[in-house]
Amino acid sequence: MDLTYTAAEEEFRRELRTWLRVNIPEEWTRPGFWESLDAGESFRMRRDWERAKAEAGFAGIAWPTEYGGRGGTPGMKAIYDEEMVLANAPRSANGLGLTFLAPTVMAIGTDAQKKDIIGPMLRNEVIWLQGFSEPGAGSDLAAVSTRGVRDGSAERDDFVVNGQKVWTTNAVHGDKIFTLVRTEPGSQRHRGISMLLIDMHQPGVDARPLKQMSGASEFGEVFFDDARVPATECLGEIGDGWRTAMLLLSFERGASGTAQYTEFRRQYDEIAAIAKRLGRDRDPVVRGKLARVLTELECLRLHAMYVLTQVEQGRDLGFEASMTKLQWSETYQDLWEVYDDILGEDATLDAIDGVDMRPLHAQAMWSRSVTIWGGSSQVQRNVTAERVLGLPR
Ligand SMILES: Cc1cc2nc3c(=O)[nH]c(=O)nc-3n(C[C@H](O)[C@H](O)[C@H](O)COP(=O)(O)OP(=O)(O)OC[C@H]3O[C@@H](n4cnc5c(N)ncnc54)[C@H](O)[C@@H]3O)c2cc1C
Repeated sequence: MDLTYTAAEEEFRRELRTWLRVNIPEEWTRPGFWESLDAGESFRMRRDWERAKAEAGFAGIAWPTEYGGRGGTPGMKAIYDEEMVLANAPRSANGLGLTFLAPTVMAIGTDAQKKDIIGPMLRNEVIWLQGFSEPGAGSDLAAVSTRGVRDGSAERDDFVVNGQKVWTTNAVHGDKIFTLVRTEPGSQRHRGISMLLIDMHQPGVDARPLKQMSGASEFGEVFFDDARVPATECLGEIGDGWRTAMLLLSFERGASGTAQYTEFRRQYDEIAAIAKRLGRDRDPVVRGKLARVLTELECLRLHAMYVLTQVEQGRDLGFEASMTKLQWSETYQDLWEVYDDILGEDATLDAIDGVDMRPLHAQAMWSRSVTIWGGSSQVQRNVTAERVLGLPR
């Protein structure tokens, strides 16, 4: 395990840090700023800012230059993730596309797909959604029932798609959706599914927001009613969408964890400071829990460096990606449980001693979701047990 960055990587850090300092308005970094905006306005601002960042060369950090990337090292990507957190940079508007779809396209897309998808995604001209989950298919993803029927003619060869997706992040802001669709009539489970790339801007597609307990609507439902998609708009082979989905999920679960560590460590310091301010740091139970979470955080940091080293050595972590997802999501949730313990019933107050607590409450609520999306903790444990440790099903 190598815990240091090279001189070139540190030079990249300085360059990026300078750009971020100049290009993030001070008011954007104030607690509660983004929550105070209208959701559409906030999304548009993040989209435009991210496009400007890409144009300045700070996107696709470790992607090959032939795809519009910077051609950097995995270490530079880890530094980028860290610096974005430290600068309080806006959240990505295209995270699902950039993190999961792009590497999948680079690995198995056609030349036309690589050209048509990656550049416009980097410049945020196309915002991508993930259409996997359905009301009857979450953890049990192979139960997807959205169906696509081939409607081919000499002029056009389309799939006509009907069904519903749910929990679709950014549903109302998306331009295209990578969607698991059952394209072989009568097929069962993992067979006969295709990953279709469907245009959201057409009459047969309806995206509706879902309201979360925080009041925000970061995700929604997507309904397909005779939506059309050309048969060429399939990622991987037609009928082989399960394999494409598993490859994509390995990118969703396998990010190194350096960004999470940086962000959570800062939140930890904030929560420890609140305990002190409220005099709760003298409570032995709170002290014990803070110490336990700090230990978890240090384990997360070391695991993140381990993953990074493996990636730098060209090793594919495969199913071990589930362990990374499990570790960071459980650590994050434990951290915010300590916050709830410290506040007790004061967790319902908007302000304590004149300090606005709403941004922190929103984080505490969000923490409940991280052990669900991208595959729940139970599912990650099953994958680790069966695929990494080789235990029986
Ligand atoms: C914030 C957020 C954003 C999301 N964004 C997207 C998105 O953009 N696109 C998308 O497609 N989906 C998205 N999802 C959906 C997410 O992938 C699913 O919620 C997740 O896969 C779980 O499915 P489910 O909600 O149907 O729960 P279920 O599968 O019904 O699970 C219910 C409970 O049963 C447990 N369970 C299920 N099966 C097993 C098993 N075999 N062994 C042990 N325990 C089991 C689960 O762990 C869970 O605790 C998002 C979810 C959230 C919370």
